[in-house]
Amino acid sequence: MGKHILLLGPPGAGKGTQSKRLADEFGLEHVTTGDALRANKGMDISGMDTEYDTPGEYMDAGELVPDEVVNAIVEEALSSADGYVLDGYPRNLEQAEELSGMTDLDAVVYLSVDDDELVDRLTGRRVCPECGASYHVEFEPPAEEGVCDECGTELVQREDDTESTVRERLRVYQENTEPVVEHYREEGVLVEIDGEGTPDAVFESIVDVVDA
Ligand code: ADP
Ligand code: ADP
Ligand code: ZN
Repeated sequence: MGKHILLLGPPGAGKGTQSKRLADEFGLEHVTTGDALRANKGMDISGMDTEYDTPGEYMDAGELVPDEVVNAIVEEALSSADGYVLDGYPRNLEQAEELSGMTDLDAVVYLSVDDDELVDRLTGRRVCPECGASYHVEFEPPAEEGVCDECGTELVQREDDTESTVRERLRVYQENTEPVVEHYREEGVLVEIDGEGTPDAVFESIVDVVDA
């Protein structure tokens, strides 16, 4: 049976970067609600009686997309995965409750990073729209400026990686997602890792937890 790994942490903590490495190292599926929602930004959800009519409107505002939409995405993705690394979900206690009904977890890893560092990371982030790889103009530049190392696609800046939207996402994280971290901490399953080391150092720490 493949491993079931949950990566938690604020926006910019390095969840996407580390998930990709873990997926490669352990042959796992990378299940990420952020990428899934970005691929479905224009989906019509007006029938759900929600504030906005599409996921994209929530994302551009830095708000959470309604639980009903994300729960369905995760349920579908996990049902077809053997081992996986889950990133970007759960983001509130209701989603955590939902997840506990869908699957068991082998490791819950929390990457901790200071707010100032998060803002620097997110405003300098560049992503590959094709394969999902993350880069940073200063901290993790690609070999050729603006081009994905892995697939040669032109990198883009996410629309929600502007300073004002980043601040709102951090606020939403504190309000909704920090209680999720506390929930796993109280259950005694959370392993906290210093997310401020180099990507290699952080990866080694996570592998130690996953292999333990
Ligand atoms: P998340 O998925 O948690 O939002 P990402 O993996 O996309 O985070 O990383 C956010 C930004 O920080 C990206 O620009 C990435 O290149 C950069 N980054 C990731 N890990 C590190 C690290 N250990 N040190 C410095 N920058 C990092
Ligand atoms: P980050 O790099 O900040 O970790 P993500 O790519 O995970 O960002 O998420 C981007 C946006 O997608 C969020 O700001 C939110 O609007 C939406 N989103 C992603 N995952 C969820 C989720 N589990 N619940 C609600 N909204 C989500
Ligand atoms: Zn790419």
